[in-house]
Amino acid sequence: MRLFVMVGAPGAGKGTQAAILARALGVPHVASGELFRAAIRGETPLGRQVQEFMGRGALVPDELAIRLILHRLAEPDAADGAILDGFPRTRPQAAALDAALARRGAKVTGALYVGVREQELLRRLSGRWLCRAEGHSYHAVDHPPVRPGVCDIDGSELYQRDDDRPATVRARLERQLPPMYEVVDHYTERGILTAVDGEQSIEQVTEVLLRAMTQPAR
Ligand code: ADP
Ligand code: ADP
Repeated sequence: MRLFVMVGAPGAGKGTQAAILARALGVPHVASGELFRAAIRGETPLGRQVQEFMGRGALVPDELAIRLILHRLAEPDAADGAILDGFPRTRPQAAALDAALARRGAKVTGALYVGVREQELLRRLSGRWLCRAEGHSYHAVDHPPVRPGVCDIDGSELYQRDDDRPATVRARLERQLPPMYEVVDHYTERGILTAVDGEQSIEQVTEVLLRAMTQPAR
């Protein structure tokens, strides 16, 4: 089983890289935000609970986030592993993931920390376009789709998130960075964190990540 965790600020390129790495490894790309939005669309009881929190821009409580992710990882297509993107986002989530995997005789193979400075995060998010179907990520300048407004991968419509404006991004960073650094500490303590410079081209970052994924952790 190859289970990798992407760690990084909003706009660092986690989603972009996770989609590429998932295809390269033949495992699913599990993006927590997308999974939660799908639960809301499905109008399940869990989806209604998720809506309560996401609707007001709050993090989904750990217990609920953990249940949804573990449920997804129990699906057959994830039997050989997955690339997790957006989870774990807090230290309790990281510990719960370790515990759940241990019960199945498995563990996180590696955590990949993509580092990008704030100014560049703001630039990337203000040019970001996402696809409606699966959240595939594009950038107006750095990574434009072949056909404007249309996802290269699934043909769905592209849109910009309301909260990708600089003022909202600053607030998201303020809220998200402290728990993210705790997740970084968690995997550093376990000796499975690889930090990469996320301010290179998409192709260069992929190359460094793929190399890290096929080497024993440092
Ligand atoms: P995250 O999932 O970490 O929030 P995304 O993968 O959605 O980040 O990337 C944020 C934005 O930055 C998108 O518009 C994406 O196309 C662009 N992007 C991603 N990686 C790079 C890169 N290495 N260089 C330039 N732009 C990038
Ligand atoms: P953002 O950059 O705003 O966090 P995402 O698409 O990754 O964007 O997540 C959207 C929302 O989904 C978050 O604001 C939060 O409410 C919820 N969410 C996603 N992942 C998690 C998680 N691991 N724990 C708790 N809530 C989460």
